[in-house]
Amino acid sequence: MYRSQYIAIIVTIVLVALIVLHFTVGISINYAILVGAMHALVLGFGSYFIRWNYFIKSHHHGDRNDNKIALTFDDGPVGLTGDVLDILKEKKVPAVFFCIGYRVEGLPKTVERMYEEGHIVANHSFKHAHSFDMKKASNIKKEIDECSRAIMRVIGKAPKLFRPPYGVTNPNVAKGIRRANMHSIGWSLRSYDTTAKDGQKLKTKILRKLKGGDIVLLHDRVLVTAEILTELIDEAREKGFTFVGLDELLDIQPYA
Ligand SMILES: [Zn+2]
Repeated sequence: MYRSQYIAIIVTIVLVALIVLHFTVGISINYAILVGAMHALVLGFGSYFIRWNYFIKSHHHGDRNDNKIALTFDDGPVGLTGDVLDILKEKKVPAVFFCIGYRVEGLPKTVERMYEEGHIVANHSFKHAHSFDMKKASNIKKEIDECSRAIMRVIGKAPKLFRPPYGVTNPNVAKGIRRANMHSIGWSLRSYDTTAKDGQKLKTKILRKLKGGDIVLLHDRVLVTAEILTELIDEAREKGFTFVGLDELLDIQPYA
């Protein structure tokens, strides 16, 4: 059973009890409405905050007592991914790329390069549409599989790591991930690089928050991220952090 299922059972019992009390001893029906509304709120937050592990257990960080951290880049490959790969190569930093399936088909050489240069190629759905989490579980599984096949055609291996688009999970997304037999991967440090205007501020914010075991969420489609990457790596190393892949940080197999 998942956290959401326990809570749903408890809420149902409480609701039934409150409704019975309403009709027997006449307590206000507003108590039942309040409990229902609170549950709806919790469901909403549980969908939005993948870190709650509300519908599915995701991996969010490695060992907090170690100085290892992992960089993850979402939404590629795009033209800019080559610049990110250049920096990672120069700095000898392994990373994880959560790729969008149709972009993998558009830039297979970039994905091939990721793999050949020691990075993990992972699954971030085929289309990354806003409607992803509105789909039925069977269609979510289908889209995850479609992205895995696109990656498989390029690198010859099927990814096992999946990050839900927008980090949104719900019962159907959770079911789809389980049926596709993927590890669900979240993050512990969200950089908000997609909305960052000032690179230096972004870099300072990430370095200030950085802790051992962190999974850092970045995007290889964001110019400011590529611009600060070299300094970010250098300064994180100065603070004593070591960059590893998610396979090492989480001790899991990245491919089937
Ligand atoms: Zn994304």
